[in-house]
Amino acid sequence: MAKGSKMADRIRSNVDRVRKQVKTELKSVPPHRHCVVCRAVIKVDADPPVCSDEDCNSKHQRNERSRKQLSILMYIFPAIAIVLVVLNVTQGGRA
Ligand SMILES: [Zn+2]
Repeated sequence: MAKGSKMADRIRSNVDRVRKQVKTELKSVPPHRHCVVCRAVIKVDADPPVCSDEDCNSKHQRNERSRKQLSILMYIFPAIAIVLVVLNVTQGGRA
């Protein structure tokens, strides 16, 4: 039993050491960002957040456009639904 608990203690201390190492390593990484397309490291204040690669730039622009279209649709669909509901309610009141 004593042997087992010693082993457990050693494992625990190893885990603690590794945890501390991970923390210090995380702190030692300077602030940076990643290209949203290829995840390459770029400047923190890069705008748009892509690397200098032209492929990434065009891909990002395409993504941005489809994202904007999607957000427009997110407004249009509920609006249509509301209009339909209102029409339904007003027609129901008339009949
Ligand atoms: Zn990139």
